[in-house]
Amino acid sequence: MDTVHTSGQELVIKGIAAAPGIAIGPAYLYSKHVPLVETKPITPEDVDSELQRLHAAIARSEKELQKILSFAEQKLGSRDARIFEAQIMILGDEILMGTIDDRIRKELKNSEWIVFDEIGKYKKLMLAASDEYMHERAHDVDDVTNRIIRNIQDQRLYSKLEGEAVVVSETLTPADTVIFSRNMILGYATDLGGVTSHAAIISRALKIPAVVGLRNATKQIHMADSIAIDGYAGVVVVNPREETIEGLRAKALRFRQFEEELVGLADLDAETPDHRKIELSSNIEFPEEVEFARMQGSAGVGLYRTESLLLGRETYPTEDEQFEVYKTVAEGMHPHPVIFRTFDIGGDKLAPDSYHEENPFLGWRGIRVMLDRPELFLDQIRAILRASNRRNVRMMFPMVSKMREVRAAKVLLARAKQELTERGVPFDPKIKIGVMIEVPSAAILAEEIAQEVDFLSIGTNDLIQYLLAVDRDNSSVAALFQHFNPAVLRTIRMIVESGHKRHVWVGMCGEMAGDPVATVLLIGLGLDEFSVNPAILPEIKKIIRSVKYRDAKRIAVKILSYSTEEEIKEFLASTVKNKVPQIPFE
Ligand code: PEP
Ligand code: MG
Repeated sequence: MDTVHTSGQELVIKGIAAAPGIAIGPAYLYSKHVPLVETKPITPEDVDSELQRLHAAIARSEKELQKILSFAEQKLGSRDARIFEAQIMILGDEILMGTIDDRIRKELKNSEWIVFDEIGKYKKLMLAASDEYMHERAHDVDDVTNRIIRNIQDQRLYSKLEGEAVVVSETLTPADTVIFSRNMILGYATDLGGVTSHAAIISRALKIPAVVGLRNATKQIHMADSIAIDGYAGVVVVNPREETIEGLRAKALRFRQFEEELVGLADLDAETPDHRKIELSSNIEFPEEVEFARMQGSAGVGLYRTESLLLGRETYPTEDEQFEVYKTVAEGMHPHPVIFRTFDIGGDKLAPDSYHEENPFLGWRGIRVMLDRPELFLDQIRAILRASNRRNVRMMFPMVSKMREVRAAKVLLARAKQELTERGVPFDPKIKIGVMIEVPSAAILAEEIAQEVDFLSIGTNDLIQYLLAVDRDNSSVAALFQHFNPAVLRTIRMIVESGHKRHVWVGMCGEMAGDPVATVLLIGLGLDEFSVNPAILPEIKKIIRSVKYRDAKRIAVKILSYSTEEEIKEFLASTVKNKVPQIPFE
């Protein structure tokens, strides 16, 4: 870091913060070698040797991927390493590989071309889907195709660098990210990608700062340019001035010191100094995360995204299969409560029987799907009820937009309870139920909804997208996705007041609950529960423990008087910073 020299004009490129941290060093421009694929005729006599070449290449690709997989498992843990399992599965897909063999025999064309064309069909299907997740998976398919072709052509992959560097690339595959991490990588900066890309997930797991979605950084940055990556703010600075470097180093230090202060908070309550107790829970989606959530000091699970059970499946899991998972989570968390959200499929999350919709976020999603499929819904409700036997389970319905949906869900819940009673299966007859408030109509009807349930949980990820008409996954409008927009804050206040009027608690499980800059304001708005990513939980707890509820309320009143997001952010950056000096604000 000390050898950085600054020459040339300082240039700031704004992207998307993908993995936190600051990295300063020389740029290493990585341009991915995409093998050239041409179609070439072969003779019937060549078919056998062509197939041999192909099969050897597939075997070598599999060996390479197995190596990457085991390295990734050591570094990342089995969950994040699954991407490579998925790639290995493509290689082992007998139907796909059989089709490729058949086409070589029939069409008498070179294997590279047939591989490129046949696997390319999968990719086109994925790119035709409108959600970002499928687009990211299309890159994984590309990665496999290129790997096989490279091996057919007998070319070596080169991803070794000399000394420390910040890798700058158009895009990075998960494999690149892992392989580079064996070298002295300081950070990553890419033109493409979003926070949900697997490369971003891996960078976070490896604790390597990363900024993605920089559009044309590879054109603006040259090999060995000195660059700085701010993975907190999502910014890359090319040829940073000495003051910029000093500022970034100070920022890194502030964050590191803050992280050190968090150790030892796990056993303490999330309570303000004037004794307002907040329920601080975790958002998780896999049973393996329970242990981490407990370790971080969670008071429970505020959102268990059950859609994870549907990942990679072609059928819905049975009641028994679901019960096993819910029971593991509920027991693992006991005596703390777990809120299981019923399947929120549609939108950006695929169901086994999803079909293409022009406008999926306004389509067949969440409770709408489940009410149209009462048998599936009943399977899930029964499975959750069965897991509730030790009285620490709650149930929550997503994407509610009208009262009838809440009532219809309750009718099905009553039926499921009756069925279990008839079967003699134990469950919690007084199980608490809640509704996610994430559609503007539900926010307006919050008081009526509150009369039907035991709690409300605000889903800001969707609420903001619907309230401000900003697609949550579209990087072109990312700057408009503002949780400090006054319309958002006033809506949150309205929901909290509506819930409290009807004596039900109101929580928040959207990403906003995990933004340390928003914490004081959210306390002041009267939220009873925050459900956040367990990685950020100690930081949020620290803030809750540092600010008096009395002061937070005053701050919230002041903030609600502003009419622009800019004024609110400015106020937060100055006033709240003084109240909670240890938060390393941007
Ligand atoms: C939300 O919308 O805020 C939420 C927590 O749900 P999801 O992100 O799963 O849609
Ligand atoms: Mg949602």
